[in-house]
Amino acid sequence: MTDKPRLTVIDGVKDTPRQKAEKLKRARPDAAHMLSCHRCGSREVIETKIGMLYKNGKAQGGTKQILCASCFMRGERVVPC
Ligand SMILES: [Zn+2]
Repeated sequence: MTDKPRLTVIDGVKDTPRQKAEKLKRARPDAAHMLSCHRCGSREVIETKIGMLYKNGKAQGGTKQILCASCFMRGERVVPC
């Protein structure tokens, strides 16, 4: 006769790869990570410039800003993080 099977309690369910990435991002916000939109989850971005100066026949200067392309198509301005 064999022994009864031993059952042990494990600590919760395993995280999905996405949950793992989100936890890492929260723990180390400055570490390298892929930008994703907090509103729609998209990873497609567009780069815009605010306050450019037109001088000597070309546009220059300005402040660079990265926006979620998917939200922008729907008329919303969301900065992904
Ligand atoms: Zn978005």
